Amino acid sequence: MPRSTSSQLLEKDSLRLLRAALDQLEAGFAGLPALAPEAGVDWPAVERVLLEAAERLQDNYPYFHPQYAGQMLKPPHPAARLAAMLALWINPNNHALDGGRASSRMEKEAVAEIAAMFGWSTHLGHLTGGGTLANLEALWVAGRLNPSGCLLASSQAHYTHSRISAVLQLPYESVACDRASRLDLDALRRRLDQGGVGLVVATLGTTATGAVDPLPELLALRAQYGFRLHADAAYGGYFRLAGNLEPAARRAFDCLPEVDSIVVDPHKHGLQPYGCGCVLFKDPAVGRFYKHDSPYTYFSSSDLHLGEISLECSRAGAAAVGLWATQRLLPLTPGGEFARGLERGRQAAAELYRRLGADPRWVTAFAPELDIVIWAPRAASVSQASALAQRLFVEAERRQLYLALANLPVQFFDLPAGMQADRDTLTCLRSVLMKPEHLDWVPTLWELLNQAADAVPGPPTG
Ligand SMILES: *Cc1c(COP(=O)(O)O)cnc(C)c1O
Repeated sequence: MPRSTSSQLLEKDSLRLLRAALDQLEAGFAGLPALAPEAGVDWPAVERVLLEAAERLQDNYPYFHPQYAGQMLKPPHPAARLAAMLALWINPNNHALDGGRASSRMEKEAVAEIAAMFGWSTHLGHLTGGGTLANLEALWVAGRLNPSGCLLASSQAHYTHSRISAVLQLPYESVACDRASRLDLDALRRRLDQGGVGLVVATLGTTATGAVDPLPELLALRAQYGFRLHADAAYGGYFRLAGNLEPAARRAFDCLPEVDSIVVDPHKHGLQPYGCGCVLFKDPAVGRFYKHDSPYTYFSSSDLHLGEISLECSRAGAAAVGLWATQRLLPLTPGGEFARGLERGRQAAAELYRRLGADPRWVTAFAPELDIVIWAPRAASVSQASALAQRLFVEAERRQLYLALANLPVQFFDLPAGMQADRDTLTCLRSVLMKPEHLDWVPTLWELLNQAADAVPGPPTG
């Protein structure tokens, strides 16, 4: 890949479009007495602090660049960025209709499109500040329906579930995982036989490795044992649209419409800026828990104030406008451009995994189900591999390849014969290939990884 000159790194030309959109927005308020806009603002001082802020922000990894292949971070789509910025000139609040009339309608439309992606024509749902708040609402509703029921999630479920349960003062237990990081069905069945389970969380796309819990089997267990089933698809939910999943993950995403509640994070794979999670309930009647004295019909009215069905009060209307605009441009349809972006990330992960598996310097794990790859350098022992991974992480960064580290159970990895498992967890390298461009960049990432490996003496070179 050619080296970019700095002027090509951050896209700036679209500010022109923002200017035109602001003129259009302003035209809607014609007739009001003119204002001297922002009179009293000390513009030279604003410029000074803005440039200072820009300098401070230089202290970041380049999340926008394909050579940032570490954590689940990337900037929003330009349409999301511009539409959200546009809304900030008005700053609507989606708590109530009089605080954000248009943006509340846009939120309802965008959320209904997400619900339709999951196969739901009716639902109750709204945007939240993020996946944590969205999951909190789903667990809170489960607790209202069954106050003494225990909440279960796998040991690889997001740690937010145990913390949320503590906040809600609901009993929580974690269930073991299998070797592919999925909720272990035998362990779950043993726990269900003891009784008292109110909710099981299925994670569709674990945060560490993108593993997809076995939803068809969980639905069968729900039919047998009668618990509530919540899908935490904060990371992976949009992969329902991807056409290149392996059969087990495909089956899990295909039966998502049958769960009781779903969380998905538009600010992870939905191309949105942070501050955009989403919770959906299959049965709109759970709206009664948000406001006791209202009948069910109230909650499916199109004039619903979103604040009536959300635990958060003030919420950014700008987040809804960004999401609405993105989905207008890139509809949530299988085979569409948005789906193709997800497919490319998956392909990139599969290609990196293939290269790692074919090279004796590396130890790999189960095949990626989404777009996250974990691997470690081969060494005499797990503790040595862990130490080497940390040095590789540093050497990669020196070459402007930005990876992540993760500490994961050693049974996830295919340890070669003779490699000593002297620890329960392996500190491995981890790469989230969530930008569509990552597919074209795999050869570059591979080259940089090899250069980093050459600089770290230790791993045998096969
Ligand atoms: C990211 C994530 C969360 C937490 O969501 P935030 O948006 O970070 O608050 C919960 N569950 C899963 C599976 C996640 O990936």
